[in-house]
Amino acid sequence: MNKERHILLLFPHPDDETFSAAGTIMMHKREHGTKVTVASLTSGEMGRNLGNPHVANRETLPLIRKKELENACDIMGVDELLHLGYRDKTLEFEDVQTVATHLQEVIQDVDPSLVITFYPGLSIHPDHDATGAAVIEAMRKIPESKRPKLHTKAITANAADEIGEADIVYDIGDLMDRKLQAIDAHESQMQEVSAITKQKIDEGDEDTEAWIRYEEFWTYEC
Ligand SMILES: [Zn+2]
Repeated sequence: MNKERHILLLFPHPDDETFSAAGTIMMHKREHGTKVTVASLTSGEMGRNLGNPHVANRETLPLIRKKELENACDIMGVDELLHLGYRDKTLEFEDVQTVATHLQEVIQDVDPSLVITFYPGLSIHPDHDATGAAVIEAMRKIPESKRPKLHTKAITANAADEIGEADIVYDIGDLMDRKLQAIDAHESQMQEVSAITKQKIDEGDEDTEAWIRYEEFWTYEC
């Protein structure tokens, strides 16, 4: 694992950062003391679930998801958490250059050596694709000599057919339990997914274990 000075995660919803890169950031921290900033574009207020039993209603969900993200970040050892104030499920309708200009400022303020986001067009949710596209535009606005590296996460089933296999694959091994704890912290959305995931891993389901254990990224040349 290459040494990184500072990693910036740019994701649209609370929980994207945990599923995509919990183990990766914890490994970087453990091996190299890397500083980590998470920037969440929205507070996930349109999330499908309210918990079971309900831990939120439509009015309280944005605050609860922010608190859940703080808890997940504490578990992952994140140093800094930024809320960028966009509305959930609307990113695809924002002007990409306007968002990109904002994200460029965020990237230049944080001054990371590595940015991680979604791969546009291969990330299932319109907010995911829109975030990836805006981050790439933001990176292109930064002079090449000052531009951090970019690693992207593709999650559609056909990703490898479209862009080849991921060039970075981390086996997060003994950090799986802490990643599952961080997933649990996103309680309002993830109770059911988390319970099923843990049950399947306990039962020896290899695909489920691999889904949690291996974190894959595609290096993106801007
Ligand atoms: Zn998401």
